[in-house]
Amino acid sequence: MREIIVLAEHRRNEIRDITFEMLTKGRQLTETINAELVAVILGKNIRDKAETLANYADKVLVIDDDRFEFFNSDIYQQALSTIIRERKPFLTMIGHTSYGLELAPSLAVSLNIPLVTDCLELEFSNGNLIATRQMYGGKMYSKVNVKKSESYIVTIRQGIVTPIEGKARGEIIELPPPVIEPVKKKFIEYVLPTVGEVDISSADILVAVGRGIKDQANIPLAEELAKTIGGVVACSRPIVDKGWLPSDRQVGSSGKTVKPKLYLALGISGAFQHIIGMKNSQLIIAINKDPNAPIFNVAHYGVVEDLFKIIPILIEKIKEVRKKT
Ligand SMILES: Cc1cc2nc3c(=O)[nH]c(=O)nc-3n(C[C@H](O)[C@H](O)[C@H](O)COP(=O)(O)OP(=O)(O)OC[C@H]3O[C@@H](n4cnc5c(N)ncnc54)[C@H](O)[C@@H]3O)c2cc1C
Repeated sequence: MREIIVLAEHRRNEIRDITFEMLTKGRQLTETINAELVAVILGKNIRDKAETLANYADKVLVIDDDRFEFFNSDIYQQALSTIIRERKPFLTMIGHTSYGLELAPSLAVSLNIPLVTDCLELEFSNGNLIATRQMYGGKMYSKVNVKKSESYIVTIRQGIVTPIEGKARGEIIELPPPVIEPVKKKFIEYVLPTVGEVDISSADILVAVGRGIKDQANIPLAEELAKTIGGVVACSRPIVDKGWLPSDRQVGSSGKTVKPKLYLALGISGAFQHIIGMKNSQLIIAINKDPNAPIFNVAHYGVVEDLFKIIPILIEKIKEVRKKT
């Protein structure tokens, strides 16, 4: 049976969310083209990870080897090339992450397989792969009818698919350590964000500010609210353009895709470039003084009011509740 391969991404002993997103998408696709879903994991001491993946995939191919302790695209490329050459999967899915961006192009070139990057959606029609991508910085969507091929490689954008809990009982297959030619690239160290830097894509609660915040001097108000509810501050693009917050806080098509448990949007109109980056948040609450602001189309709850009236009340009330509990 033909296969769809998903390359599991893991870092610092954790499987990254993009893996489960791809497995969910991959499962949907196998149902439409009658294929098997195969997860591939390369690493060191990863048996427990393989077991987790077996809940999602029909087969889990594992290479447990010291040389895969840290991600190295050159070593990964060699191991994956061998797997893809041997198994001839219909499709290989890789995360559109810093890892995937380094790996997928060289892998596709080495195998002479078509590559489509940054896919939002995938479908098959008469055996052809059709990939949905964004164009012009997110202004338009295009459906790319990929040139017919025996095998394809795609990278999948993070945060687009909502992962569904796996119910599979996949077979775990240990592959022998592959022959790897010497590589020049070397892993040196993980550099974690310095104290004060924030990774908005992994935060559970985001307090996002837009142009409605009016002035840089008002950002601390949002920061106080964020602190009160245990969240961090994110923003729309104009806030970054003005230099009020760093670019790693920007949500949207040219910023980050986020999926927090709570997204509190303050004075954000809801332009589609912004919405695309936060619409999959579990709970969206918007405060905007314009009742027709498009943000209300995606918000679960909305407050039509001046944010400068609401935020201080909110902070006070939350503090009151906290004191009582
Ligand atoms: C190629 C391209 C890529 C882009 N990428 C991104 C991106 O990644 N992320 C992004 O965010 N944008 C992006 N943009 C910009 C996007 O089109 C919008 O311009 C931007 O999202 C608007 O930001 P905003 O909602 O903060 O500002 P505005 O659209 O100006 O909205 C401000 C909102 O605040 C409300 N408001 C004002 N005062 C108050 C108040 N006192 N109380 C309550 N509400 C108030 C107003 O009613 C209004 O709805 C991109 C644009 C382009 C062309």
